[in-house]
Amino acid sequence: MTIDPVEVCVVGGGPAGLMAGLLLARSGVNVLVLEKHPDFLRDFRGDTVHPSTLRAMDELGLADEFLALPHVELPQLPMATAMGPVIFADFRKLPGRFPFVAFMPQWDVLNFLADAGRRYPGFRLLQEAEVTDLIQQDGVVVGVRAHTPDEQFEVRCNLVIAADGRNSLARGSGLLEVAAGVAPMDVLWFRVGKPDGDRLPTVRSGNGFFIVCIDRGDYLQVAYMIPKGGFGTIKSAGLGAFRTELAAIYPSLTAHLDAEIHSWDDIKPLDVRVDRLRRWYRPGLVAIGDAAHAMSPAGGVGINLAVQDAVAAARILAPTLTAGRRPTVAELREIQRRRQFPMRVVQFAQLRLLSDLYPNAGRPGTDKPLLVRLLRRVPGLPHVVARIIGLGIRPEHVPPTAHIAETYPAPTKLRENQ
Ligand SMILES: Cc1cc2nc3c(=O)[nH]c(=O)nc-3n(C[C@H](O)[C@H](O)[C@H](O)COP(=O)(O)OP(=O)(O)OC[C@H]3O[C@@H](n4cnc5c(N)ncnc54)[C@H](O)[C@@H]3O)c2cc1C
Repeated sequence: MTIDPVEVCVVGGGPAGLMAGLLLARSGVNVLVLEKHPDFLRDFRGDTVHPSTLRAMDELGLADEFLALPHVELPQLPMATAMGPVIFADFRKLPGRFPFVAFMPQWDVLNFLADAGRRYPGFRLLQEAEVTDLIQQDGVVVGVRAHTPDEQFEVRCNLVIAADGRNSLARGSGLLEVAAGVAPMDVLWFRVGKPDGDRLPTVRSGNGFFIVCIDRGDYLQVAYMIPKGGFGTIKSAGLGAFRTELAAIYPSLTAHLDAEIHSWDDIKPLDVRVDRLRRWYRPGLVAIGDAAHAMSPAGGVGINLAVQDAVAAARILAPTLTAGRRPTVAELREIQRRRQFPMRVVQFAQLRLLSDLYPNAGRPGTDKPLLVRLLRRVPGLPHVVARIIGLGIRPEHVPPTAHIAETYPAPTKLRENQ
């Protein structure tokens, strides 16, 4: 298959890749997004859409349409702990139109972004297209090699954006080096029916356990944190012991657990990693989102940081790319310079402040975690937490594109364009 050269090839159609593709296409750049999966229907991925992402949607004129999709809005994130109930984050005083977190299945978010991108003539998404190689010429990345189930192809471009998550090809190929990384815990995901009439707290933690229940309308998506590498031990104790352990935390789930968790196939273990690249770029290549900095699920910030990276990258690079030029190393460095600090603050909080909330094989559990003690003592802290995770340390703004409006149709309802 021959693919005409494009200005930008984005590897990975996750939150970072699709938002970058959408924004660059909106600026008039020719973008091809390559996604290895045939669809976005993967369960057990991040589901939290924070106010920073909603603001970006709003700046694109898409927020109302986005929020018309089925979702649950939480103005506060409550936690039931061994020290009593606390509010982890209180979004109600955040400035702007979105004083809440929206819980929405990630496939709906990604389908929405892809649909929004397709309205611009410069946007192309090729699914079931896995990138296998980055093509280099004289030390510059000038394209990718990829394949669909039927054929292999090459794409030449002025810039490759690696938005392919924490197992990014750019990392594996040694082009971008991982500076530091830790693996704080693992997560077991599963779904169970909702107990009748019972409103479960979203998060519950105690000595040695931490569990998050996401309300998906007619069922709960549950994330149960376990010590790193601990799934084998849990499995050897047996499914009955696992169900009993969970029922002790949530007695009202007992009947659903017994009726619906039949085998270990109903439980999906996920390996959590927190790391970052030393340098996010090299000539012709830049990494954003989890490819640049893998995030833990703690605080549900991963999607939102990935989107913020995409907004910053598109804003910094659009002028050069629309002029048909390859971005300079200085421009690529600017993306890292801008996004590194907010990412490091969040990773620090995930690893230091939240670490004793989670079960960890390397240290004894505690029912008085630091964060819970602080939340109980410092009255305004839930508002501060909401600001940090909801809007971020350095909020990014979608650039206005007045000249684009003359070229392309003004944003109208997506549905009318399908
Ligand atoms: C267990 C767990 C739970 C989480 N829960 C939350 C949460 O509730 N809220 C939250 O905000 N964050 C959460 N996160 C973090 C969040 O999922 C990530 O930070 C976020 O998805 C990063 O977005 P991304 O676009 O950078 O990468 P990804 O979402 O990983 O997307 C990368 C995309 O690239 C594609 N791809 C990979 N390799 C190739 C290739 N070679 N060729 C083509 N395509 C490729 C993948 O299929 C994927 O679609 C969680 C993380 C984990 C591990």
